[in-house]
Amino acid sequence: MRVLVVNCGSSSLKYQLFETESEETLAAGLIERIGQDGADAIVHHLPAGRDEVKFEQPIADHNLAAMEMTRILCEGEGKVLDSLDEIAAVGHRVVHGGEDFASSVLIDDAVIQCIERNAALAPLHNPPNLAGIRACMKAMPGKPNVAVFDTAFHQTMPRKAYLYAIPRAYYDELGIRRYGFHGTSHFYVDGRARVMLKEMGRDGDSARIVTCHLGNGCSMAAVKAGSCVDTTMGLTPLEGCVMGTRSGDIDPAIIPFLGATQNLSFKEIDTILNKKSGLLGLSGISNDMRDVQTAAAEGNTDAAEAFEVFCYRVRKYIGAYAAAMGGLDAVVFTAGIGENDAKVRHRILENMEFLGIHIDPDASDESRDDRVLTTPESSCVALVIGTKEELVIARQTEAVCGVA
Ligand code: AMP
Repeated sequence: MRVLVVNCGSSSLKYQLFETESEETLAAGLIERIGQDGADAIVHHLPAGRDEVKFEQPIADHNLAAMEMTRILCEGEGKVLDSLDEIAAVGHRVVHGGEDFASSVLIDDAVIQCIERNAALAPLHNPPNLAGIRACMKAMPGKPNVAVFDTAFHQTMPRKAYLYAIPRAYYDELGIRRYGFHGTSHFYVDGRARVMLKEMGRDGDSARIVTCHLGNGCSMAAVKAGSCVDTTMGLTPLEGCVMGTRSGDIDPAIIPFLGATQNLSFKEIDTILNKKSGLLGLSGISNDMRDVQTAAAEGNTDAAEAFEVFCYRVRKYIGAYAAAMGGLDAVVFTAGIGENDAKVRHRILENMEFLGIHIDPDASDESRDDRVLTTPESSCVALVIGTKEELVIARQTEAVCGVA
């Protein structure tokens, strides 16, 4: 079955067309700077052997972006389909499903209303996600559309893990609790880790796994027998790990302190914590881990410290989650930093023999494939797994449409 996966941001539309049986990507593209001044860029990638196609044209809104996407897929240099009829369904990444969605759903009016209601919890993400859904409904009338939520995988967390210790009414009336994000990524790498554990002759089914999604955004999840029991991100994707530009955990009293002493508004503090903190804030160099490491290697002590704080936070959560689950069978690294940065992984995992993690000095860490970093004797396995969020969205879209 051919499934189109769509991921809309406020000024971008990413798409990927899958053949779900073979898991092959037939085409993928990125439309950027939607609704902004200047030349808008569309980059349309084609299967191996065919060159990518680039277009530069103004794209006023998400409706036009979806129309262009459908046109490029069926016409001209980028053509991979004879007609849109070949697309069986469209799967959408939706960031916040609140407590309404613990799994993926076929989108109807009631689902749209729920996503709108949850936009209060994700004002930067859910509105563009909805714009993408509406644009695809318009560009491909009658096609089934499925919503796959970033929060859904974390809905199995127990109350003790998701309640904040603030007056209960804020949860009851406003829904303030920990929701967690990057759910499709944690779900995918957890499932893949279980398969790898079984291939190693271990008990994959009941394994206690910590999944570390370390990219520009970073989050971790404690997953026991396939169910998420805790995660680092909270009401919003600001809590938890140190990220590219986000602070992660801080003492909440810093907010009124900054307000009072620096005469900053809530909006300004929100911008500082989301856009000017994390690796960027601590290093003063960049939000990109590669730049931070280059600067650290050249002797920049602020950059070296940013690296240390980043790794220490992840390490601390691994210990916390081992305690929460009563032991640890695997730690998984994924996303840009997790998959590519051996230095980060080694700093996080060094001296963790007390948790049964023995890094294999001979293990090849160069390959791009999913791989094992620990010795065969380790009771806890460290794995690097390439995340496949779009593939999960395509598979879940297929599953929902299969039973719809
Ligand atoms: P993502 O959000 O998953 O695309 O990840 C972005 C982060 O991954 C940035 O901090 C990059 O510096 C980092 N990253 C990507 N490739 C590499 C690499 N080869 N080595 C180290 N870090 C990398």
